[in-house]
Amino acid sequence: MRNYAIIGGGPRGLYALESLYLALFNSESNKEVKVTLFEPFAYPGAGWVWNPEQVTTNWLNITERGLQGLKGRPEIQFGTSIIPGFPSYSDWIEKEKDTITDNTPDTFPPRAKMGTYLNARFETIVKALQGFGLLLVIKEKVVDIKYIPPHFEIITKQQSIKGIDEIVLTVGHQDTELSEQLKKWQEHAKENKVPQTFTEPYPVEKILQATIDKTTVVGFRGFGLATIDLLRALTIKKGAHFEILNEHTREVAFKPSEKHPEKFVPFSLDGLPMVPKPLNKTVDDLFAPSEDALSAFAKAVNQGACGEHTAKHHYFLLESMAEVVVPIFLSLGSKAIEHDYTSSELYYLAINYISNKEIDHPLLLSHKLPTLEMMQDQVGMAIGEVQITLDYCIGQVWRHCQPTIYSEFSYPELPDAVVAEVIALDEASKRYTYGPPVESIQQLIALTKAGYLDLSVLKDPDINLHNEGWKLKLEEQELDVHTMINAVLDAPELVKVNTTLIQNLLKDKMIEPKHTDLGIRTDDYGYVEVPEDKSFVPLAVLGRLSKGSVIGVDAILECFGKRITSWANHSIKCMLEK
Ligand SMILES: Cc1cc2nc3c(=O)[nH]c(=O)nc-3n(C[C@H](O)[C@H](O)[C@H](O)COP(=O)(O)OP(=O)(O)OC[C@H]3O[C@@H](n4cnc5c(N)ncnc54)[C@H](O)[C@@H]3O)c2cc1C
Repeated sequence: MRNYAIIGGGPRGLYALESLYLALFNSESNKEVKVTLFEPFAYPGAGWVWNPEQVTTNWLNITERGLQGLKGRPEIQFGTSIIPGFPSYSDWIEKEKDTITDNTPDTFPPRAKMGTYLNARFETIVKALQGFGLLLVIKEKVVDIKYIPPHFEIITKQQSIKGIDEIVLTVGHQDTELSEQLKKWQEHAKENKVPQTFTEPYPVEKILQATIDKTTVVGFRGFGLATIDLLRALTIKKGAHFEILNEHTREVAFKPSEKHPEKFVPFSLDGLPMVPKPLNKTVDDLFAPSEDALSAFAKAVNQGACGEHTAKHHYFLLESMAEVVVPIFLSLGSKAIEHDYTSSELYYLAINYISNKEIDHPLLLSHKLPTLEMMQDQVGMAIGEVQITLDYCIGQVWRHCQPTIYSEFSYPELPDAVVAEVIALDEASKRYTYGPPVESIQQLIALTKAGYLDLSVLKDPDINLHNEGWKLKLEEQELDVHTMINAVLDAPELVKVNTTLIQNLLKDKMIEPKHTDLGIRTDDYGYVEVPEDKSFVPLAVLGRLSKGSVIGVDAILECFGKRITSWANHSIKCMLEK
């Protein structure tokens, strides 16, 4: 009997639990494993990100079509005992699938719906394992871990659990130290009665309960997905609505109420809006690489990251991406912006653009356009009514290639600085690859046209504090803001994480950062790397905190991916070999 602990029962913790028993089942051994799972949140399997009770105005950024990749759990049998299977997300949702065609606009479920699925999936495995006496769920937060070989001791505020042989840490998003700017704003709110500062965008419910009414001007630090969720909540949940004007293009008109804020004022460093995903499968297929192109790309990325002659520079990714992009852009024909460039000219333009998103070129959507126009053009491309620019094409092709990058770039044998550059490139693609539905951008357009969303100080304004709030100034424009919401989620920089557990692990040198900007250094199976003169420690870290050793940690489909199964298979194999 081997005693495991899973710390963190979000989606990854759930899949780690499933993968462990599946690996044991596949090994055909009659050995047993026992798991103690720690999760303080009320809905294990979902965790707070996928809380089934959150407002339905928080939307997922992946289409229900894309979620077909979230496979179900097969029935797991050992001896006479059975852990029941659980359907895939697509089979679980009730949907008249027959009425969906390639031209039907894609649907993006609320995050709460995914949370209900994840929690139901968790409950069925827990019920079975508890029935066999193989699982203990402790609804507490872990604050420390001690390792006196061969056992771990896991400490919560209420108790300590001893005799654990192996730990997998799936704690996901961890709070980090507030930036100087946020600390200053927080102080400002304490010292003055009027202003309110929210240092986090979630839970949205907390912001909805605050004193925000029709006289309030709300500022948003960040113009990404969290701001879109908040704009929807602060309008729809306060009595306003978006009237659909065109079922196909999802064009909407904003219908105000008496209760929502007077104005919304977002701002960010680059001032650029998120880019909508293609409207439906027909448009999306324009950007899908062929199987051959994708496998050549996979090979190139793998060789660059882990091959015999690994890359000395992130350039290998730019080159391999440009190889995929150029034939796709050329195949768009008249659907793309008119040009007479050769493949080789497009190849170098693509490389230049990926390395520097600021360059100006007739094939690229200019960053100098007014934001409203930019959003309208991008919606036009997403619905197939405006000629496609090279940057939109690259963004969508990158999204199709992303699962390949994530799987081929795992545990790369590259200098940390090159890994950091590759991660920076992938992060820069997220404006497109993690983009929202067309309907979200149509809502922003409608809010802007109705005069409630003010984009006049969007790009990196000067920010001054005064007794009644903040003054945002950009060139000749000045706007006063009464409530400020930080809608930028913390990056997983290990050295800035300020939760007790991670600080204790760092202090005890049980984990170390891969690169000062990144997460924990782990090996090919997810175990924390130890210096050569020290023995192996059976502590695995899966997900966000190991960013750098892996990339692509922030997507739900990655939570059910091969990194978790490879940890589980390896762990069970080692247990059986002992
Ligand atoms: C606000 C937000 C919105 C997102 N939206 C999307 C989206 O639309 N689409 C998408 O694909 N991805 C989205 N993501 C990315 C998201 O991180 C992943 O999809 C997924 O939730 C990661 O799962 P995880 O299990 O690794 O981490 P998490 O979901 O963060 O779960 C970790 C769990 O560990 C628990 N935990 C933490 N610390 C401890 C401790 N010390 N002891 C015990 N338990 C602990 C937490 O309570 C939590 O339940 C979003 C992330 C955030 C933060």
